[in-house]
Amino acid sequence: MKYSILGSGSKANSYLFSNALSSCILDNGYSFNEFSKRAKSLNYDLTKFKFILVTHTHKDHISGVKVSAKKLKIPIYIHKNSDYFEYFKKEKLEIRLIETNKIYSYNSFSFIAFKTSHDAPASVSYSINFDNTTFTVITDTGYITKEMIYYAKNSDVLFLEANYNPQMLKEGPYPLYLKKRIESDKGHLSNINAINFLNYLSKKNSRIKIVYFCHLSEINNNPEILKKDILVNGKFDFNYIICPRNQIQDGITIFDNNKSNANSNNIAQENSKTLKNISNLDILEDNLLF
Ligand SMILES: [Zn+2]
Ligand SMILES: [Zn+2]
Repeated sequence: MKYSILGSGSKANSYLFSNALSSCILDNGYSFNEFSKRAKSLNYDLTKFKFILVTHTHKDHISGVKVSAKKLKIPIYIHKNSDYFEYFKKEKLEIRLIETNKIYSYNSFSFIAFKTSHDAPASVSYSINFDNTTFTVITDTGYITKEMIYYAKNSDVLFLEANYNPQMLKEGPYPLYLKKRIESDKGHLSNINAINFLNYLSKKNSRIKIVYFCHLSEINNNPEILKKDILVNGKFDFNYIICPRNQIQDGITIFDNNKSNANSNNIAQENSKTLKNISNLDILEDNLLF
């Protein structure tokens, strides 16, 4: 089993997940050349990629999706109410439309999409399960919802946005409208939002084994500032890694539940069971702000 961040931040985002049978991609903001170069440098076999999950249609997540789906000849999963048509029209692509809080299985993976609060139509993110391991990506959201708490808590690996340091944003060069957009309920999570969320999760019997702080802003954050914010405000006891903007980060395998001998359908069914347990919650409509 293997997972990696090909890069994250305001320019381009992409995450890869792989086991003995197949691999999948979550978002791709990179050109196909750059994507291939980065994936190969981490020893991914391009022929093993079977599908792409898309969170939302902002450029840093979608600009490389069309070409990679075409070149790799693989389907794209995207929310049915998103503006996918704008991006994929006239193209011979296999688009699979999904809904939130429904479990999908494909190849040896199961995944479930949940709502994010962001300024793109029907923006979502995902919890992915394979080889008995659950990965949840929470980025591009203005706040943390109760659903997110549940998915994060039941994950082995959490990719969490720490987009900006509030003071840097306030004093930085961005125009006022952009500052307001970033810190709005439909913008991004700040370092403090992310840290408070982890402080909360660490008191809640969480399964998390490692947290990757990602989607750091180039202008309004940096790894040193985030580290300082964590040292001052962090009360959580999770292992964590700060992912500098646009840098490759290979995942650490701190557990190995590889079931490479079973056939892929069985694995997908097993994974669905895990996600079903996760999704079997009273999803409350009101939200918690962190
Ligand atoms: Zn983004
Ligand atoms: Zn976005």
